[in-house]
Amino acid sequence: MPQNYIPYNRQNINQSDIDAVVDVLRSSWITQGPTIERFENALSEYCSADYAIAVANGTAALHLACLALGLTSGDILWTSPITFVASANCALYCGARVDFVDIDPLTGNMSVSALKSKLEQAAKKNQLPKIVIPVHFTGQSCDMKAIKTLADKYKFFVIEDASHALGGKYQGKKIGSCEYSSITIFSFHAIKSITSAEGGALLTRDKLLAKKLKQLRTHGITHTKEDFYLNTEDDWYYELQYLGFNYRFTDIQAALGITQLSRLDSFIEARRNCAKRYDEMLVDLPLKTLQRFEEASSAWHLYVILVDAALRSYVFKKLRAENIGVNVHYIPVHLQPYYKKLGFKQGDYPYAEAYYQQAISLPLYVNLTEKEQNKVVSILSAALQ
Ligand SMILES: *Cc1c(COP(=O)(O)O)cnc(C)c1O
Repeated sequence: MPQNYIPYNRQNINQSDIDAVVDVLRSSWITQGPTIERFENALSEYCSADYAIAVANGTAALHLACLALGLTSGDILWTSPITFVASANCALYCGARVDFVDIDPLTGNMSVSALKSKLEQAAKKNQLPKIVIPVHFTGQSCDMKAIKTLADKYKFFVIEDASHALGGKYQGKKIGSCEYSSITIFSFHAIKSITSAEGGALLTRDKLLAKKLKQLRTHGITHTKEDFYLNTEDDWYYELQYLGFNYRFTDIQAALGITQLSRLDSFIEARRNCAKRYDEMLVDLPLKTLQRFEEASSAWHLYVILVDAALRSYVFKKLRAENIGVNVHYIPVHLQPYYKKLGFKQGDYPYAEAYYQQAISLPLYVNLTEKEQNKVVSILSAALQ
């Protein structure tokens, strides 16, 4: 990476993070120790959910969420085409089918009206989804209350993919509270709101679901005597009751997660300030930004601009040529070769496809300086002339 490279996103690590990780390394537990539970408690408290289960990464969280809700072959899962591939792949891991609901072009989030009409059609054909995964794209919540109303009517489970949205709010409450969903998942990959290098978590209010998720995280094994099928006094005994995975989190990751979580609100504020500065600087340029939705307070994972589709590649190249690490979020999942092989094609989700033709994500991170933002905007502005 050249010295003056401005990435689109970047982690914020300070001495307290480093000290916390070193402390764990000097302790007797580097994995499956007490720091994991401390992190889980801090996270569930932050989000006002009853339970948090930390896992290896966000993708593992999505997979376990689907498994715990009983997704299996013959079932269907719906998500947004404008997301990272993991939001859809999790269904395939369970042997289920995937379908997509087109986006609201104003926000980039799953369109509630498209969801409603797709559900009406699916009900007639008896092909309703078992799970719907709304993705809080860029860190701004989907219209969860409206989605939950549809979930109650059509009897599907809701998993919130909040990989972008830790620290954001919906109707004044922290995302992750699970007021309108069975499970909310987060990712702590390096570029997300907080990081544990790799990592993820599931939040839920449901005690039984939390217990099942914990068991699935460690192969599906239980060491709890009261839960054994076999009546035994043997101390070495444990039982494999479901087919789970090794999706464990480590104490090293948890230590980093705890110190990061303590700075989360300041991270979000710094991101919000950067976004505000872009808003002001971009106001006269020939481009659009995504609409803010009144009930949502974004975690500002991404700052997306929409430029004329005919200019997008040119503008992107110009920025990259000047060491601005812009990116595109996302290539619609249904247009990936793997999904095309499953039968999806160009034209299936017109709003998602039109959005994709115009989108560029500008650099946005905690330590992005005013000077760097000025540079981004001046190159962008020249490219758009
Ligand atoms: C990052 C991300 C994931 C996956 O998280 P990992 O921790 O990288 O596995 C899933 N969905 C979305 C929308 C993401 O941005």
